[in-house]
Amino acid sequence: MAVTKDQLLAWIDQDKDKLLTFFSKFVQAKSPNPPGDTIAATAHIRSFLDAEKHAHRVIAPNAIMPNIVASFDCGKPGRHLVLNGHIDVFAVADEERWKHGAWSGAVVDGKVYGRGTSDMKCGTTASIFTYHYLSRIKDQLKGKLTLTCVSDEETFGPWGARYLMEHHPEVHGDCCLNGEPSSPHTLRFGEKGLIWLEITIETRGSHGAYPHASESASKLAAKLTGDLEKLTDLPVRAPDNVMGALRAARTEIEIAQGVGSADIVPKVTVNIGVVDAGIKVNMTPSKARMEVDVRLPVGITKEEVMAAVQRILSGYPQAKLREINYNAPSWCDPDHEMVDILRTNVRNLKGFEPKPVISLGATDTRLWRYHNVPAYVYGPAPTGMGSYDEHVEVEVFFHIVRTHVLSAFDYLSK
Ligand SMILES: [Zn+2]
Repeated sequence: MAVTKDQLLAWIDQDKDKLLTFFSKFVQAKSPNPPGDTIAATAHIRSFLDAEKHAHRVIAPNAIMPNIVASFDCGKPGRHLVLNGHIDVFAVADEERWKHGAWSGAVVDGKVYGRGTSDMKCGTTASIFTYHYLSRIKDQLKGKLTLTCVSDEETFGPWGARYLMEHHPEVHGDCCLNGEPSSPHTLRFGEKGLIWLEITIETRGSHGAYPHASESASKLAAKLTGDLEKLTDLPVRAPDNVMGALRAARTEIEIAQGVGSADIVPKVTVNIGVVDAGIKVNMTPSKARMEVDVRLPVGITKEEVMAAVQRILSGYPQAKLREINYNAPSWCDPDHEMVDILRTNVRNLKGFEPKPVISLGATDTRLWRYHNVPAYVYGPAPTGMGSYDEHVEVEVFFHIVRTHVLSAFDYLSK
C-alpha cells in the first residue's frame, strides 16, 4: 500500500530524538567561514548517509570545502526536484557573549543553540532527512530527487553551489527547495542583488592648518557619502506579479526581517561599509578609500545603477571607481506550483499560510534562478544570525523538517 503523508509525519515523530541529535551534533561540527573548512561537518553528514545506505558523491574542487551530492530515480518518470543546503556558517566574533557556547549545539528550554543553527544547519538537516524519508518510498513517487549539501556559501560559492551549477548540470533540476532562514511566515521566491564598489579619492594633501593648500580627501569622501544616498531614489520597475506579492506580504515581511524592511525590499539601498582616510590629526588627508555596498531590488539593472554612480562621480574628478563584486537580483514565479504546495502544507500543519516574498540578503538559490530553475526558500526565523545566541526553537525545527518532507512528497507525486 502506498505510504501517505500521515505515515511520513509518523516517521518524523518516531525519529524526533534522532533528528534532534543529528542537528545538535551538526552544529558541534564547527564549520565557520572564514576559513570555510567543512571537513568535520561534512563527515557528520556522510556518516549518517553511510549508516542509512544512501549512496552519495563527494565533489571537492577545494579539498577543505567538500560538497555532497546524492540522487535517486523514482518508480515512474516525472520532474526533478533538487534539495539544497549549505554546510558552512558565519564565523564567531564574540564567543564570550554566548549563553550556551557558540559551538555547543545545546538543547535548552526548547531551543537549539549555536552558530549555524538558523543559518542554516536546521534547513540543511531538513533537506537531508527529506531525502532519507522519500528514498524509502521512491517506487511510489515520480521523477527524481537530488540532495546537494554545499560548502563555501558564505563567500558566494565559487567552490560550492556555483561550482556545482557550472560543472555538474545534473544538479540543476526542474525546481529547487532550500531551508535558509526565511521565518515560518514567509517563503522566498527571490532576493535582492548587490554591487560592491571601491572608491578611492586622491588629493595633494597638506598641513592641517593650511586647508587652502589642498582639498581634503576625507571631506570629499563625506560629501560623496551624502551624494551616493541619492541612488536610493532611482526608479524601479518590477513586474506586476512581483509587486503584487510584495504588497500582499508587508506584515509578514516585517515579521521576518524587522520593522522598516517592507519599504526597502523594492528599493535600492546604499551601505558605506568601509571608510578609511587620513593618518594624523593635523594633516589634510591626501587619500580616502571607501567600500560601498549597493543593493538592487528586482526591477533595476546593474547598468542603470552604474550610470547613476558615474553621474554622481562626475562631480568628483579626484575619485577612482572599481567594482569588487556583483550579483544580479533574482526571482521566479510567485504563483508556481511549489508555492501552493508549501502554503497548503504549512496551513495544514500550523493554521497559517506563509506569504511569498523577496528577501534582502542573498542565498545560493539565486544560482538556480539564474539558470531559469524556480527556487524557493522556507526555513526558520533568523534569530541571532551573524550575531550571538543564534538558535532555533525545537518545534520550529520539526516544523521545517515536516514542511520540506511533505512538500517534496507532493511535488514528486504529481
Ligand atoms: Zn545561509
